[in-house]
Amino acid sequence: MGMNPKQVLILGGGFAGVYTARYLEKLLRPEEASITLINRENYWVYQPMLPEVISGSIGLTNVVSPIRRLCPRSNLIMREVEDIDLKRRMVTISPGFRPRQLQLNYDHLVIALGNVTNFHGMPGLMENAMPFRTLADAIVLRNHLIHVLEEADVEEDPEPRRQLLTFVVGGGGFSGVEVMAELNDFVRSVKGNYLRLRNQPHRCVIVQAGDRILPEMSETLANFAQRILRKRGVDIILNDRLKAATSERAILQSGAEIPCKTLISTVPSALPPVIQRLDCIKERGKLLVNIRLELKDYEGMVWALGDCASIRTPAGAMVPPTAQHAVREAATVAVNIAATIRGGRPAVFRSESFGTLGSLGHGAAVAQICGVKLSGFLAWLLWRCIYLMKMPGLNRKVRIAADWLLHLLFPPELAQTKVAFESGIRNQHFEPGDIIFHEGDRGDCVYVIEEGECDVLCERKGSEELVATLHRGEYFGEMALLSDRARNATIRARRAMNVLIIPRADFDKLRQSVPAFGDVFSALAQRRMVAK
Ligand SMILES: Cc1cc2nc3c(=O)[nH]c(=O)nc-3n(C[C@H](O)[C@H](O)[C@H](O)COP(=O)(O)OP(=O)(O)OC[C@H]3O[C@@H](n4cnc5c(N)ncnc54)[C@H](O)[C@@H]3O)c2cc1C
Repeated sequence: MGMNPKQVLILGGGFAGVYTARYLEKLLRPEEASITLINRENYWVYQPMLPEVISGSIGLTNVVSPIRRLCPRSNLIMREVEDIDLKRRMVTISPGFRPRQLQLNYDHLVIALGNVTNFHGMPGLMENAMPFRTLADAIVLRNHLIHVLEEADVEEDPEPRRQLLTFVVGGGGFSGVEVMAELNDFVRSVKGNYLRLRNQPHRCVIVQAGDRILPEMSETLANFAQRILRKRGVDIILNDRLKAATSERAILQSGAEIPCKTLISTVPSALPPVIQRLDCIKERGKLLVNIRLELKDYEGMVWALGDCASIRTPAGAMVPPTAQHAVREAATVAVNIAATIRGGRPAVFRSESFGTLGSLGHGAAVAQICGVKLSGFLAWLLWRCIYLMKMPGLNRKVRIAADWLLHLLFPPELAQTKVAFESGIRNQHFEPGDIIFHEGDRGDCVYVIEEGECDVLCERKGSEELVATLHRGEYFGEMALLSDRARNATIRARRAMNVLIIPRADFDKLRQSVPAFGDVFSALAQRRMVAK
């Protein structure tokens, strides 16, 4: 064995990434491999239980688990993966508080970045539809539901009130059905607390492109689920899909329009941009892997799994993108990385689905386990037992069980946990001598001086040279943003300064929608370039 441990880099901290790290921690000793996991959050989300956050039957932080505790021997980096260079074996990670990107080399790479909801080509969905994947999505939706109920209670006119009490979910797969079931239960159980809503009907609509909901399950179970949901007042529109949306209504392919203020979309999904940019063989956009889950052309070095990978069984069947498969794939990847590092037989991924389970809320579920179909209360009990068992760690198991018990005894929480959403544009104060940014830093903001003065300094032949002094009303930082290069000067406050900071995303938005705004900065950058 070599002296240095091999560098294993895992991208993504979902089911696929976290379980790969956990298995590797068991299989390899620290002197054999150093494991690093990169994820944009420092927690792992137990997605199958995420819809329960809507009704509050599980507490907000009990549906997630800190990755540092789940993978104690792995080095967690809570940042965004910005670029993967397979040829140079290098991964670029976003800047943190300090505006410098990090670059990491690896011996073995595991790509497990999942997928994202993509509203491309669906006008108005970006602005008006809520995705449902992350803890933040669940919190935003819960707060939004409470908000529309509060508004509906104040609203006198029947039309706007009906609109406020209409809830539309696009997508009738597992997540869409579970989200709607929880949402419906929540609205039903809290409506009684609103004096004017008690006797008002609310409307829940699922829009599904296929001819039945739950395509992941057998037709009998899907029909059962459909019957239960319809009995509970959920409207199911089949063979149609969301086409567009405004702040007032959802617009369907068929031309039908549903006035609403709540639109959730669990479809369609796409690969994260960093994977879309990746130069390798793909199948329907997903990373194509062989039966050992190695990336084509990078065998023995790069593995891909989970929702971002296109995986087939040795018999050629497509493996569905579910949590239970991601966990099994993680075991295969870990065995194969260990075999590459210390020698041994590689494993082949065999998908043996134990079954599928879907909750319909309020004591009902559908399950298909080892060929046996179950529905109703028994399936719901089974759903809860199995998912509780699968949640790693006693701590979370006990907390969730306690939440469920309390939810049976008491009505759901109705307090809104509002968080103020600030625009990215913000003010900042600098004292004389403070450095605003360094030459060589990544340019991620433009600055407008509201008060004070600063010096522009350039490194020339090892010493610092004063290039200019900027005053109130002047701008700086535009060059790096417009040219996408590193900062070409250091900015230091000469006198106390108040500045307006415009982050890259806002700067680009303003530039696109107000051309004159962009022209000012382009002309300035050009003048400064010539002067340099
Ligand atoms: C509401 C809902 C309910 C579900 N219910 C079930 C169920 O009951 N049973 C079941 O089997 N499956 C269920 N699924 C599907 C299951 O959750 C997914 O198949 C599974 O999570 C896939 O795991 P993954 O690790 O591939 O991706 P993910 O879990 O999506 O993990 C990807 C991770 O990568 C991170 N990431 C992505 N891009 C970047 C980047 N550029 N930089 C840094 N980090 C990044 C993300 O933040 C995330 O943590 C459900 C899904 C949803 C949304």
